[in-house]
Amino acid sequence: MKKIIIAIDGYSSCGKSTMAKELARQIGYIYIDSGAMYRSVTLFCLENNLCNGKEINTTALQQALPSLEISFKLDPETQKPVTYLNGTNVENKIRSLEVSNHVSPVAALPFVREALVKQQQAMGKSKGIVMDGRDIQTVVFPNAELKIFVTASAEVRAERRFKELQEKGQPATYETVLKNVKDRDYIDEHRKVSPLRKADDAIILDNSNLTIDEQNAWLLEQYHKIVDE
Ligand code: C5P
Repeated sequence: MKKIIIAIDGYSSCGKSTMAKELARQIGYIYIDSGAMYRSVTLFCLENNLCNGKEINTTALQQALPSLEISFKLDPETQKPVTYLNGTNVENKIRSLEVSNHVSPVAALPFVREALVKQQQAMGKSKGIVMDGRDIQTVVFPNAELKIFVTASAEVRAERRFKELQEKGQPATYETVLKNVKDRDYIDEHRKVSPLRKADDAIILDNSNLTIDEQNAWLLEQYHKIVDE
């Protein structure tokens, strides 16, 4: 069966990674969460005092960036991908609200995008990959065979992220999560470099009223439409 590239973009917390991960598992593809890569760079900034308040020490970050090694490994027990930064498991830390609150300005830096896009394109060289993010269908893989643009209302997305944080025991209120979702949407859509937008040939999925099973089934159907033709 022919191998393709599947690019899934959309707003924050709209369930892109849940559906991308499940599709990759079902069809035996590699799954890459590009947001985890931007989150890892942000965690590095926070842990090394490179982003205090609104200021980012871009000179120091630019110097450090080539030495940051971001990789993914499957957890043998859960079979879920885990993010590693320089050999350390950072999966939980990168999902914190603190990282969420700082990631969009870091991801708007042109030199950060350039470095991560290069790595993402190298990962997709042999195809057979599902990647989710904000610029996967417009910048990273503009020739992807299947492009999906996912959306849902900000309130639905905030509710999902809030529940996720609660389950992990991470402190947050619904209001702060909703504010974070809206702020990130704004920055992601209005930044100069690779703003979040739907590619002309992408299929839109509004999953506000879909269950996880329904959205997974819908995505699998889209995949088969391409590879079975
Ligand atoms: O997907 P997730 O919400 O974890 O991504 C975190 C942040 O990383 C986004 O809000 C966005 O600012 C940035 N991002 C990006 N380009 C991508 C993936 C994520 O700018 N391809």
